Amino acid sequence: MIPLAVPNIAGNEAAYLQDCVDSTFVSTVGPYVTKFEQEVASAAGTKYAVATSSGTTALHMGLLAMGVGRDDVVILPSMTFIASANAISHCGASPWLIDVDQWSWTLCPQVLLAELSQKAEIRSNGVFLKACGRQVKAILPVFNLGMAADMDALRVVAEKWKLPLIVDAAAALGAEYKGKKSGACGALASMYSFNGNKTVTAGGGGILATDDEPLANMVRHLSTTARSGPDYDHDLVGYNHRMTNLQAAVGCAQMEQLAAFLQRKRQIRAFYDLAFAQTGLQAFPVPDWTHSADWYSGFLYPYTDVEGFRARLREKGVDARPFWKPVHLQKPYQNAVRSDMLVCDQLWDRIITLPCSTNITDSDLEQVVAVVLEAL
Ligand SMILES: *Cc1c(COP(=O)(O)O)cnc(C)c1O
Repeated sequence: MIPLAVPNIAGNEAAYLQDCVDSTFVSTVGPYVTKFEQEVASAAGTKYAVATSSGTTALHMGLLAMGVGRDDVVILPSMTFIASANAISHCGASPWLIDVDQWSWTLCPQVLLAELSQKAEIRSNGVFLKACGRQVKAILPVFNLGMAADMDALRVVAEKWKLPLIVDAAAALGAEYKGKKSGACGALASMYSFNGNKTVTAGGGGILATDDEPLANMVRHLSTTARSGPDYDHDLVGYNHRMTNLQAAVGCAQMEQLAAFLQRKRQIRAFYDLAFAQTGLQAFPVPDWTHSADWYSGFLYPYTDVEGFRARLREKGVDARPFWKPVHLQKPYQNAVRSDMLVCDQLWDRIITLPCSTNITDSDLEQVVAVVLEAL
């Protein structure tokens, strides 16, 4: 089977891990953690970055540091990996799910504005849902498939409603929005994941990137048991969510290859898009505001037997997979506040992702194309 997306471990990973072992710095303090934070901050275009144990925990810590708490509400697109919503739940808050637009499959600014106008009101102490009185604390766009959401349009809505933006850019390191780096396009903070299926991996891990120094300090504080002194003094209910030096060592070796990985991801996407251009298979969107990091490649299948088609690809050795099942269709979030899902509902189960590891060979790419064309 030609795999969907496997880690590409061909650089200094083993050497840096050996260095951790030799130095005994294997835990949550160590030079690789600091180096990794600096390198990701630079790639994200932010002043600060705090490394955590996963993307989910980075988002959780970021939301908490922004003041999201029990019974609050955070707005996000339904078209995302469930972890975005889980991080909100981990704060004791609830997601408010919004549809995506058909041009980018990211949070739709028009639907967002319409939903806010219809269901929320601004009071002297914040924004509240009219029906239940819960406070809305933030808007969380997701950079789907490595594409930036339309941040300028979202910012207009966010400013009107005085809500901060925190971006789930889990798989979008290297993406740009109107020439700006993914962490520098108008959000208060951005999250990146270094899970094994992302373009750059640390085995597991996350980063919360921001220009806001107090926010970065609070994320660091919360994720390291909220220690307030050299002894066992703690001033908050903290978490043990720091990244280890071992993870960061792998991450640092991966960051040395970021440019090459991004180039390969973009080549893979261009190769598939060209190969399927005349077939009726619909390419993933290319919104003009973003230079995508092209995390995943694939297409939208225009006919009804999508499962049968995917099975035929898999029988022929191509690891074709479905993409995220939207959050509003997931059991824990069936009763979440939400907009209509006109775009999301007719889209999500026709998406097929194709093998796109950065170490895939050209002959494997040609094989994938041949199998897809034959199955059509
Ligand atoms: C991968 C991913 C996450 C979760 O990151 P983890 O590091 O696995 O916790 C969250 N949101 C999106 C959009 C992702 O792609």
